[in-house]
Amino acid sequence: MESRAFYVAGRPAHGEVELTVLHPYDGRVVGRTTVATPDQVEAAVSAAAEVAAEAAALPAHVRAGALDHVSRRLSERADEVARLITAENGKPLKWARAEVARAVATFRWAAEEARRFSGELQRLDTDPSATGRIALVRRVPRGPVLGITPFNFPLNLVAHKVAPAVAVGAPIVVKPAPATPLTALLLGELLAETALPAGMFSVLPLPNECAAELVADPRLPVVSFTGSGPVGAEIRRSVPEKHVTLELGGNAAAVICADWAADEDLTFAAQRIATFSNYQAGQSCIAVQRVYVHEWLYDGFLPRLLAAVQELRTGDPSDERTDVGPLISADAARRVEAWVDEAVVAGATIEVGGRREDATYPPTVLSGVPADAKVNAAEIFGPVLVVTRVQDDEAAFAAVNESAYGLQAGVFTHDVRTAFLAARVLEVGGVIVGDVPSYRADQMPYGGVKGSGVGREGLRSAMEDYTEPRVLVLTGV
Ligand code: NAD
Repeated sequence: MESRAFYVAGRPAHGEVELTVLHPYDGRVVGRTTVATPDQVEAAVSAAAEVAAEAAALPAHVRAGALDHVSRRLSERADEVARLITAENGKPLKWARAEVARAVATFRWAAEEARRFSGELQRLDTDPSATGRIALVRRVPRGPVLGITPFNFPLNLVAHKVAPAVAVGAPIVVKPAPATPLTALLLGELLAETALPAGMFSVLPLPNECAAELVADPRLPVVSFTGSGPVGAEIRRSVPEKHVTLELGGNAAAVICADWAADEDLTFAAQRIATFSNYQAGQSCIAVQRVYVHEWLYDGFLPRLLAAVQELRTGDPSDERTDVGPLISADAARRVEAWVDEAVVAGATIEVGGRREDATYPPTVLSGVPADAKVNAAEIFGPVLVVTRVQDDEAAFAAVNESAYGLQAGVFTHDVRTAFLAARVLEVGGVIVGDVPSYRADQMPYGGVKGSGVGREGLRSAMEDYTEPRVLVLTGV
């Protein structure tokens, strides 16, 4: 099996130490690459620093053209890319296909944003002393970006950092997750086909220690990190002088409000929640982990939920019909199993699921869970859902807020007042009304409060994040 190249300043390269990538479902070798050497890391960072001024001055048509090219090529190679995602991450092919379709859209949308991202003209003559003055406020890149990404969306989370960087003309060095580097390398291949200056991007497979050295490098003033809370907190502590965005974990909740009472409402919510607590085997920062159900509706909702969960097919992720595949590793599945066992000892009931097989943990629903059990209070990052009966909508919102996290929440209601109440009181980055919290679109700012992070992604937000305003005041105009 050929070793896949990584990218140093836009050019394919190989290191000395091999990195073998295994299929999470059956442990077979699905690909190889190598770890970047210290000299190659240095070449990538110095090239990013050297090209920064040239990159910032690139015409919009060049930036947008490169983004359109990547979008088109991803679309042409969609089947191959989806199969690569499934192979290294273990997510079912249908979810891998959805991830590719999303990345195609991300790059296309980024091209559009690149064409319109400019600035603002401000009049200053509101004060007599500034008569005849205007300000042109443009946004200029802060400098090269370091993008560090996790394993759970090997394509999209890289796209969410690369696309806005290219759109604003900022060089970027990407460090993908060690378990899933191959898709990021394929993306590097597509970027290398564009007319972007060579130093503008590097994709470097590296162990965690070397990633920490990159974080400390002053030539990379912007750090955009998606991953776990402890690593994010360490990054923030280690470089307080840098512009750092952290997209961290969550234990997202959905609320079934008092008015969501019709049979078809309960069936719809049950199906959406069953699907989105188990998609990516629950390894999404906005997978539904907790659901709070109004006490009037609980007995009608639970059987529907269990029926919907039991309909999900668990198994080989390469099978087009599979809904739920393995977790990223048997160790990850063992941790989920241990947390569920702990909850059961503390009094929880397993309504469905609960038997691990290697790296695969089945879709599991728990009730009667104490609030402080890890399955409820911490981020489970597995296909486990905690269902809790609540007295009223206000009690549900208070329970949603009893969390160290705050990424997004889903509120099933038809009542616009309840929707506005939720938006006002819920301590999260976003409230999704009439659906699960697992919805994200490139147009919207996306990110969390509390332990879920700092700053926002979403193309426009990331483009603002990677740039700073520069003002030109003109006199006598
Ligand atoms: P992780 O924190 O273990 O690793 C993420 C990345 O950080 C990897 O590339 C890893 O190699 C690197 N890393 C590890 N130690 C580092 C260090 N000391 N310095 C610099 N980089 C270091 O996370 P993971 O297990 O790959 O991913 C799962 C986590 O990601 C979950 O907590 C999940 O909620 C979170 N996540 C958040 C979002 C979001 O948008 N909020 C999206 C997806 C995943």
